Amino acid sequence: MPRQSPFGHLTGPVLVSACLLGIACRYDGQSKHCPEITRIPGIIPIPVCPEQMGGLPTPRNPAYFVGGDGAAIVSGHARVVDCEGRDVTGCFLKGAQATAKVAELLGITRAILKERSPSCGTRLVTVEGTLVEGMGVTSYLLREQGMSLMNENGEVL
Ligand code: SF4
Repeated sequence: MPRQSPFGHLTGPVLVSACLLGIACRYDGQSKHCPEITRIPGIIPIPVCPEQMGGLPTPRNPAYFVGGDGAAIVSGHARVVDCEGRDVTGCFLKGAQATAKVAELLGITRAILKERSPSCGTRLVTVEGTLVEGMGVTSYLLREQGMSLMNENGEVL
């Protein structure tokens, strides 16, 4: 029996991490194309890259949380720093807010986001070099906005 797609119930416009749609917007200048998402019938994928929208270049230095995950960033109790120690918290917040604005403007209530990213991670992120349970800055803000989130494996937050 063919495996059922975890995205089968989705229809209409869905916010999608742009790198999952094959857009080369990751920190290393590559994409993380997930063909299964591109092939979901009946959805209109709306690509967003919060880190680019926050003003960061591509390619860019990889960045990590210090002091907590996206929730702690939004409440002002943690920082995002890149591998050279530069504080990029402001860019991450700006990109998250711009992404939330896109969703609001288009009336989008669902998103598929790239796991493990400090912006887009829905369940797992890196804090001070260790992979832990937590959310990216954008994911946290979108969830606070009432959106329903999934990662690229179809796991619902
Ligand atoms: S995970 Fe999110 S922020 Fe990172 S490249 Fe993909 S869309 Fe951009």
